[in-house]
Amino acid sequence: MSYDLLIVGGGVTGAGAARDAALRGLKVALVERGEPGGATTAASTHLIHGGVRYLLYDRLTTHATCWDSGHIVRTAGDLLRRLPIVWPVYRGHSRGLETVETLLEEYDRFQPMKYGRAHLRLTPEACARIVPGLSTQGLLGGLAFDEWWVDAKALAERTLDSARRAGAQAFVGENADELLREGARVVGARAGGRQLRARITLNAAGPWAGRVARLAGAEVPLRLMKGTHLIWKDPALTPVGLLLEAVDRGRYVFVVPSPLGTWVGPTDLPGPDDPDLARTAPEEIDYLDRSVRRYFPAWPKPHDATIVGSRPLLGQPGAEKLLSRDFEVFDHENRDGVPGLITVAGGKMSDYRVMAEAAVDAACARLGLTARSTTAQTTLDGLPVGSIPDWPKPSAALKHFLRERPRLRELHALAHLGAAFAGHLARRARGASAAADADEFRRRYA
Ligand SMILES: Cc1cc2nc3c(=O)[nH]c(=O)nc-3n(C[C@H](O)[C@H](O)[C@H](O)COP(=O)(O)OP(=O)(O)OC[C@H]3O[C@@H](n4cnc5c(N)ncnc54)[C@H](O)[C@@H]3O)c2cc1C
Repeated sequence: MSYDLLIVGGGVTGAGAARDAALRGLKVALVERGEPGGATTAASTHLIHGGVRYLLYDRLTTHATCWDSGHIVRTAGDLLRRLPIVWPVYRGHSRGLETVETLLEEYDRFQPMKYGRAHLRLTPEACARIVPGLSTQGLLGGLAFDEWWVDAKALAERTLDSARRAGAQAFVGENADELLREGARVVGARAGGRQLRARITLNAAGPWAGRVARLAGAEVPLRLMKGTHLIWKDPALTPVGLLLEAVDRGRYVFVVPSPLGTWVGPTDLPGPDDPDLARTAPEEIDYLDRSVRRYFPAWPKPHDATIVGSRPLLGQPGAEKLLSRDFEVFDHENRDGVPGLITVAGGKMSDYRVMAEAAVDAACARLGLTARSTTAQTTLDGLPVGSIPDWPKPSAALKHFLRERPRLRELHALAHLGAAFAGHLARRARGASAAADADEFRRRYA
């Protein structure tokens, strides 16, 4: 069997690339060794978001992911639900109400790109009414904002279904254990005893991308970060999402009520280099458990399940908590002298559509094709999306420049926040923005 494009990996990124390429008219095949979306994608926090916390050190990622999240909201709408999130602030927390509100005021600039709503400042009484059981001792108030919750595995499956309808073939449950070679060139892969020949092979194997590239003697610089969630079967242990300062004070954990249960997490720890060896450590369970129990004395014990995944972050210098979520398309002909092989790596589920577009653009350039991506204009069910606001994207050149310079990237983010903080304090001094009550919260995020 022979194809224009063979994709290795059927997580959300590979499924997105299959859809993008098939809609452009390419003859496409995809191999997935497990279930579509069953690996990292299923282990994510399930948020389509820009990442409020990246505003602290990687502002352009917040901008870029909000930009593509808007496309995902338009194309996969029925899989998403609006998730209001309360960020309670207590006496002694490392960030006070004014700092947190400044952060969310900055996030408000990007929220319209993903059809998010502006933040609200809440009184302590409103927090307690919105989140029954939340400890009120030392509670100063809270901030509310919203993100989108998505059934992540269903997003990958539906994206792959859309690709199939456009003509792509998917070989599910088949491991690509060898890349076929003609001299230095990669000409496809062997999977499940089949030879799948292709003019271009796209490595979209998430945290396994390094392993797949090495089958052809190529390298993908990744820095894997393990993340665990604890899951309680009850889908609504809290009525809304929460962002809680964790017990170590330097980090935050989400509480996400959803049809898949109430999830608490994630952790963010280095390694291991082999994603098949990623396991939840007892310390992670203890950390997440204590972080949620700190705010909910009556939180049920014990959790029902854990889930762990490896973030496939790009290899980069810098401290673990400041790592960029940017993505890159590697053309291994240029990088390693291995023609026919392209890798897409890094990024987030929240920008999987644009990652897929960039990867297929690179494949088309090698194939000499000029067909353009249409994935932003067509829903996963094949309907036209309609008109899309033309939001500006962040500068690709600045993003690239800052990726290798973590200190400058952080300074870039902090400079924006510093200016925003001054503006915020001036508005507060003029008496602006009274805190909202629970009814206003419900009206805002209904
Ligand atoms: C704890 C955690 C929380 C996260 N939370 C969020 C979030 O809330 N929002 C967000 O936007 N992002 C989040 N992310 C990031 C997001 O999950 C990933 O960026 C995204 O899911 C990666 O998708 P992928 O398709 O690249 O990788 P994967 O989903 O891992 O897909 C790669 C696929 O390749 C397959 N594969 C590997 N080798 C082979 C082979 N040789 N042959 C065939 N198939 C192969 C694997 O089985 C796998 O299914 C989170 C990540 C983690 C770990």
